[in-house]
Amino acid sequence: MAIERTLSIIKPDAVAKNVIGKIYTRFEEAGLKIVAAQMKQLTREEAEGFYAAHKERGFFKDLVDFMVSGPVMIQALEGENAVLKNRELMGATDPKKADKGTIRADFADSIDANAVHGSDAVEAAAVEIAYFFGK
Ligand code: UDP
Repeated sequence: MAIERTLSIIKPDAVAKNVIGKIYTRFEEAGLKIVAAQMKQLTREEAEGFYAAHKERGFFKDLVDFMVSGPVMIQALEGENAVLKNRELMGATDPKKADKGTIRADFADSIDANAVHGSDAVEAAAVEIAYFFGK
């Protein structure tokens, strides 16, 4: 199996709920290593740039408003099949549809305030990691 890296963001709702440690425990217990991390308040420009692929979607402005509403915790995770493994830990985008025991089922309130971001492919992960951590 391939050792991969993926980008994870603990979004403002989960940071406000004080569950960074609980989410980190899930990464660690699944064998994912936190190899870089930074807590920061995103600027609008950073949030818009990060979600540029969704620019034309109806929810884009609300998404950016939400992502700048408080600090986020950004981390690069490394491990076997890290991209898919993190997506499995996260659960479906809409927490109402997320499997029991996933991060979104346990910590998210709605499809917009859904606790975590995770890269959806290896190529996207490389771009997203570089966006926040450089090379
Ligand atoms: N989103 C939203 N409303 C929607 C769909 C998505 O607010 O109807 C937000 C949500 O925060 C989601 C993000 O946009 O996490 C990116 O959407 P994507 O489809 O890439 O979902 P993800 O990869 O985060 O599961």
